[in-house]
Amino acid sequence: MRSHYDVVVVGGGHNGLTAAAYLARAGLQVLVLERLDHVGGAAVSAQAFPGRATRLSRYSYLVSLLPDRILADLGLDLRLESRSIASYTPVSRAGRASGLLVERPEGPATAASFRALTGGEEEYDAWRAFYAGVAAVAEVVAPTLTEPLPTDRSLRDRVPADIWNDLVERPIGEAIERRFTDPTVRGVVATDALIGTFASLHDPSLVQNRCFLYHLIGNGTGEWRVPVGGMGSVTDALARAAVDAGAELFTGAGVRQIRAADGGAEITWDDPYGAHTVGASVVLANVAPWVLRILLGEPEDPATKPVGAQLKVNFLLDRLPRLRSEVDPRVAFAGTLHLSEDYPDLDRAYAEAASGSMPSRLPGEVYCHTLTDPSILGAEAPEGSHTLTYFGLHTPASLFDADPAAAKAQAVARAMASLDEHLLDPIASVVARDGDGRPCIEAKIPQDIEAEVAMPGGHIFHGHLEWPWAPYRTRLETPAQRWGVQTHLDSVLLCGSGARRGGAVSGIGGHNAAQAVLDTR
Ligand SMILES: Cc1cc2nc3c(=O)[nH]c(=O)nc-3n(C[C@H](O)[C@H](O)[C@H](O)COP(=O)(O)OP(=O)(O)OC[C@H]3O[C@@H](n4cnc5c(N)ncnc54)[C@H](O)[C@@H]3O)c2cc1C
Repeated sequence: MRSHYDVVVVGGGHNGLTAAAYLARAGLQVLVLERLDHVGGAAVSAQAFPGRATRLSRYSYLVSLLPDRILADLGLDLRLESRSIASYTPVSRAGRASGLLVERPEGPATAASFRALTGGEEEYDAWRAFYAGVAAVAEVVAPTLTEPLPTDRSLRDRVPADIWNDLVERPIGEAIERRFTDPTVRGVVATDALIGTFASLHDPSLVQNRCFLYHLIGNGTGEWRVPVGGMGSVTDALARAAVDAGAELFTGAGVRQIRAADGGAEITWDDPYGAHTVGASVVLANVAPWVLRILLGEPEDPATKPVGAQLKVNFLLDRLPRLRSEVDPRVAFAGTLHLSEDYPDLDRAYAEAASGSMPSRLPGEVYCHTLTDPSILGAEAPEGSHTLTYFGLHTPASLFDADPAAAKAQAVARAMASLDEHLLDPIASVVARDGDGRPCIEAKIPQDIEAEVAMPGGHIFHGHLEWPWAPYRTRLETPAQRWGVQTHLDSVLLCGSGARRGGAVSGIGGHNAAQAVLDTR
């Protein structure tokens, strides 16, 4: 190996690989250092259950924010499949089981479902008006994500004032309460503000608004698509693009120190052969900003450590369970199935978790990958097998600190209870068994995410999301500032989820870091 590279990327997550692919294709010498024995970070597939060949998307599972432009630029061999159902929300009112169905694209069945649940046309009219406004914002913002940062003012002037106010100026809870009346409809709208973000819908910081925006702007449509082959195919395609272009990927290489000076840096890592140091003109940090500060020599600061708040549970099922509402399970589970996410449930769960208790009714959502893409099941999976992915909200890491195993068992039991409320077949009765006869259930709490993929605090975005633009009058002088990837050091740039606009499986953090490097040359 060389003693000096143009660029060393610290962390082989999908963003690090994206940056490496762009830079190597531009002719730069690039080294990627990844502490695990495989690349991909939280965008990986894994065989989670011994004796079962199924390869589940272990952490992240759906793709929306990965720009088609990156797919095309890098010639990625990757299929993202649309789902015909956006969401189904089972509802139990006055002892009657029903549900709210939202197709993609919305058709007569969606209108009929709103009418049946809410008793009139008003709620669906409000829904369509709101999401038409959101779409107008998405169309304007999405193309800018892979361009130098626009200012808030340049975007604001291009979208309707009322929607800008609702999404960007005031806590999203206000708009939801003003625009909608039905608790289920309100809840379905609100969840996009809370996926991976532990906040009240009225939080004055507006962190929940930023989360909402990211969930709805991907490629200008906000559509969440299924990566065929599982999330590992995203990483595989990016790793191939990087290696084919000449980047070197070292796994099992945990970086322990970055010594940055004017005009370059030295990076030290440990691997099974000992400690090594290499020089680089630029370091791209695919690790979270909080981790980067430690690698640069600062002490660990618990006060600024991000706090993750989600529960992820992967199931392998012998068959899909039937629902009390009698909707076809292949419809109910094909999109996002909302559980205990009525508006008052979300409020209550946040209040309980913020005061230190596990939410009594755990809000969360499930989806079945294999209804859209059965390829991940593996050849010998019995007929009828399916995977189910549960993503739970409002379970901050602090709830698990005292007794992680017991709290995790309690959280999983509550997640399953949320499902069972709406099922004719209790979920436990359809869970498959692994080769050792154990139920195929794998759960990850924030502590697991931190231990396994080094996301500090288990925060799925490496820290709070930022607005995908710069405030008017911000000085954007250097390429790194213009691309939203700067640190306080010229030779160290952010290239991950913690970069402005970097959150989620998008490659945008990597793309933008690479463009900043190329713009300085
Ligand atoms: C449970 C869960 C579900 C999610 N669901 C979705 C979803 O469905 N869709 C979506 O878009 N997003 C989802 N996300 C978020 C998404 O996965 C992340 O935002 C994304 O993976 C960030 O990618 P990244 O490349 O920036 O960083 P990471 O994926 O965090 O990769 C960083 C890499 O750096 C490595 N590293 C850390 N420290 C060092 C070191 N000292 N030396 C060397 N290497 C190091 C890590 O091992 C890791 O491989 C989810 C995340 C989680 C945890």
